[in-house]
Amino acid sequence: MNTPLLSLQGITACYGNITALHGVSLDVPAGQIVTLIGANGAGKSTLMMTIFGNPRARDGRIHFDGRDITDMPTHEIARLGLAQSPEGRRIFGRMTVEENLRMGAEFAGNRDYERELAHVTAIFPRLRERLHQRGGTLSGGEQQMLAIGRAIMSRPKLLLLDEPSLGLAPLVVKQIFEVIADLNAREGLTVFLVEQNAFHALRLAHRAYVMVNGAITLSGTGQELLASPEVRAAYLEGG
Ligand code: ATP
Repeated sequence: MNTPLLSLQGITACYGNITALHGVSLDVPAGQIVTLIGANGAGKSTLMMTIFGNPRARDGRIHFDGRDITDMPTHEIARLGLAQSPEGRRIFGRMTVEENLRMGAEFAGNRDYERELAHVTAIFPRLRERLHQRGGTLSGGEQQMLAIGRAIMSRPKLLLLDEPSLGLAPLVVKQIFEVIADLNAREGLTVFLVEQNAFHALRLAHRAYVMVNGAITLSGTGQELLASPEVRAAYLEGG
């Protein structure tokens, strides 16, 4: 039996006395793309942040690569090989593209900067053209590439992406999802993708989960959920 690379068991998380996650369990097997879809406010970003320990899980356990990381400090978790591209991208607007990328490598203690820079700019040639430009001057799509590129600079075992399609034009969304699929297919990168854009996310996913009000209500392969009447009615039709 293969143990999953990331495994969440019964995760509960709160903001003060508001419970945002109610006993969430899910697995991300190595080499797969797993997606979590759900409406605005369902708790997807909270789940992503809880994996990194902020907020802390109040109940349940989180295992990554054979270790219990539930109570580990965030900077130690990053050094184990989890990297995230957060919702809203959060790139450093006044720093250059290159400086942003360097931060990604340094944050995780990866010192082979030149090799990683060559790797990331091969994936995103646009970033190579913009290396000395300030992050804040990039287009939305380029900023998303930078956020993903910065995460990949640490050569993570697992890439967590929080709504990479947010606010981007359809053509750019398509490009971003193609890059994610490619990273998985060609490099075997394991991806946990949180999305409101259910159609694209499910098409890409080996396995998928649906979150409603902080709880998982459905799971299956990406294809199964794409065909599910409940998913179609709630997330795919009229959207
Ligand atoms: P979105 O895609 O809009 O970010 P989401 O599915 O990621 O939605 P969360 O942002 O995780 O949802 O929010 C889940 C719930 O927790 C919501 O009810 C939200 O109002 C609440 N929440 C999120 N962040 C905080 C916070 N810092 N303090 C208090 N409540 C919060």
